[in-house]
Amino acid sequence: MNASLLLLLGCILAAWFANTLSSLLDARRLSPAPPQGLEDIYDPEEYARSQRYARARLRFGALAETWDTLLVAGFLILGGFPLADELARQAAQGLGLAGAWAETATGLVFFAMLGLAHDLAGLPFSLYHTFVLEDRFGFNRTSPATFVLDRLKGWLLAALIGGPLLAVILWLLRVFGPGAWVGCWAIAAAVSLLLAYVAPTWILPLFNKFSPLEDDALRADIEALAQKEGFALSGLFVMDGSRRSAKGNAFFTGLGRRKRIALFDTLLEKMNRDEILGVLAHEVGHWKLGHIRTRILIGILRLGALLWLLSLLLGWNTLFADLGLPASGHAGLALFSLLLAPASLLLGALTNALSRRHEYQADRFAARATGAPLALSSALKKLVRQNLANLTPHPLSVFLFHSHPPLPERLAALDALAENADQP
Ligand SMILES: [Zn+2]
Repeated sequence: MNASLLLLLGCILAAWFANTLSSLLDARRLSPAPPQGLEDIYDPEEYARSQRYARARLRFGALAETWDTLLVAGFLILGGFPLADELARQAAQGLGLAGAWAETATGLVFFAMLGLAHDLAGLPFSLYHTFVLEDRFGFNRTSPATFVLDRLKGWLLAALIGGPLLAVILWLLRVFGPGAWVGCWAIAAAVSLLLAYVAPTWILPLFNKFSPLEDDALRADIEALAQKEGFALSGLFVMDGSRRSAKGNAFFTGLGRRKRIALFDTLLEKMNRDEILGVLAHEVGHWKLGHIRTRILIGILRLGALLWLLSLLLGWNTLFADLGLPASGHAGLALFSLLLAPASLLLGALTNALSRRHEYQADRFAARATGAPLALSSALKKLVRQNLANLTPHPLSVFLFHSHPPLPERLAALDALAENADQP
């Protein structure tokens, strides 16, 4: 085993370790009785159930993560990358291409093979997650047909959008060398902007049905709120989340005139008028405070940093030689994604920290816009009960993985707002 191989394995294991440690710490905080001060969110029986659900999910997550890590490590140690590269080269040769075109085709076949194999290796876990784990706790609404169609649509989208983008990047790197990373960045950034723009109208409807809100009285209330905050109501939709799960949610997506707020039908079922208005105002807050724009901008900057690092890696000949791989854009990208696993975790943690801040800001915005901080609290409590959310994640897992603050902290912030509003 040489130094490059050890380095790659070390990176994969470091990411696995962080994941597993955070799951273990989360599991140690589970308890059958609700913590003091939170008794009004769950009744004792429901609370115990939420803890059983959290334990089952943590166990499943750790197992799936370990399986994936073993798979990638085994692939690396047994020479999977040189083999996949060789097979891809043979396939590309069969197409009768030459030069940069042959290299680009090799890269596309290489990633198609690896992507498909990786997806299939994880399939038993996806099946178990949807049809056993989620089902056992009464959440699953996904039919086998929906499950199969979702996968096929996912593959098709990856091929139609990811394929051409990957081809352009590999071709540019091959023809112009590592310095082409700036061009690659410009193109990838343009594609990600375009995707953010068209996702609400072209991509999300492939997976869900979006229909206008039918309740006229509620619509009038929402209209008043939207008008006050300058949000065009044409962007408000009800989404059939119940097609896949009994869990409730709401989200904001899109840019410019194509922006949309989607309320899950499962959420509308459980909430009263004031609670729905609170949730809606929170989503309008994300729009008004420019959170989506910030998120997209950060994604683009991150992409630039990654492509620049990749351009440096492409000159690292020892790495390719140690693994028995010809140096190429596609092999560089694949190895890079492994080397970067620990850095990705940290980058993810930074993004999550920003996202948690945005949540507090959107909550504050909603409290002010509706003048009813406690209606939003009540909506959040209902959502937590509906989704059996775990109220006591460990700070390490919040830091690494949570895009939303733990509910007790969000409620405390809203309570403080309500108290301040009471004072003359
Ligand atoms: Zn939010």
